[in-house]
Amino acid sequence: MKTNAIIVRFAEIFLKGGRRQWFTARLRESLARQVGGEWRVRELHGLFLVVHPDAQGNDLPEFEMGQSLADGIARTFGVVSFSPCLLMTREISALEELAKVIADEHVAGRLHFKVATSRSDKEYPLNSVEINQRLGGIIHLRTGVPAKMKAPEVTMHVQILHKGAAVYLDVLEGPGGLPVGTSGKVLLLLSGGIDSPVAGYQMMRRGCTLDAVHFEAAPYTTPQAREKVVQLARHLSLYQQSMKLHIVPFGGIQAHLRDHVPGRLLVVFYRRFMVRIANRIAAQNGLQALITGDSLGQVASQTIENLAVIEEASKLPLFRPLLTFDKMETVALARKMGTYKTSILPFDDCCSLFVPPHPETAAKLEKVLEIEATLDVDGMIDEAIKVTETVALDN
Ligand code: ATP
Ligand code: MG
Repeated sequence: MKTNAIIVRFAEIFLKGGRRQWFTARLRESLARQVGGEWRVRELHGLFLVVHPDAQGNDLPEFEMGQSLADGIARTFGVVSFSPCLLMTREISALEELAKVIADEHVAGRLHFKVATSRSDKEYPLNSVEINQRLGGIIHLRTGVPAKMKAPEVTMHVQILHKGAAVYLDVLEGPGGLPVGTSGKVLLLLSGGIDSPVAGYQMMRRGCTLDAVHFEAAPYTTPQAREKVVQLARHLSLYQQSMKLHIVPFGGIQAHLRDHVPGRLLVVFYRRFMVRIANRIAAQNGLQALITGDSLGQVASQTIENLAVIEEASKLPLFRPLLTFDKMETVALARKMGTYKTSILPFDDCCSLFVPPHPETAAKLEKVLEIEATLDVDGMIDEAIKVTETVALDN
């Protein structure tokens, strides 16, 4: 079957309330960016259509939806589903001709099929059931393949529009969520692990724009460890227009803390320093919240007690979108979004540095504050900010 457009569907939620136009405009922008400048995006009764660059009015050149076009649409948050389709006249005789083509090319030799019609124009002379019967009858007669209502192998979808019809076979899954840039700007604490990239993805899916900060234990870690984090950030940046990755040299602070803090409390101290530095970077860049990949109970540093002591060092809200995720759920998402393979590359993370085998699971804030009072916290942070590098990832 020929294709001359891709129908892109978004959630009903945008249709309600006063923000509808604003949301659809943001979605249209990110869809246009993701499919690439040459493709045209049109709006049609609560849908988007992606059409050929040479499209003029009703004259829509045919094309095949290649992988990069499909990937681009599948990366557009706010998109619920999409379908390569043929936009055509809605005369029943023309639909019958197309049913013959679909019968020969897609139904012959299969186990079962169905025709599923929906009408946005109730004035159309035939109702949905009648259209299903007319077209289904032709396909069955031509191929001998039986119709089946539940889970057929092939479905001919017919959507009767006001001025034409759209016919398609496949409904491909979009990522859902809200268009990027509709929910504010946040700073992701990005380690080289599995969890934090997924946490960033979850926030982007809720409409946030993301920047990232990574704490690097150089000279105790290798250049490959940095390259891995850059790769992860680059992957996340594909969902939005651009992203800043701030890389903070952290080995010096860690060595200093090792010499002045009980080993059992080191991770909690590392984290409080990370959070403070991240607050500074967020303030400099107009970002509104911090995001981490913490999941409750996953490791010693992720008990409620320790999370509370860590959070106390943050002025900005600190969100943890994976708090209730099982590792299996996080891994499944990491695979789906494509960061898993990079995340499992075997390079050390700074948080294991100098840390003894049995860290504290229930840090006490008073104790931590008491020790911190003996350190030049502001001086250490100023120094770290001074040597922070920023990498701009543009698409
Ligand atoms: P991840 O897979 O994201 O590393 P994790 O389960 O290994 O998570 P931890 O290593 O305890 O958990 O880290 C918890 C969170 O703290 C991370 O998800 C990340 O947001 C932040 N974090 C840890 N190490 C770093 C780092 N070196 N740079 C930036 N953020 C970090
Ligand atoms: Mg980690």
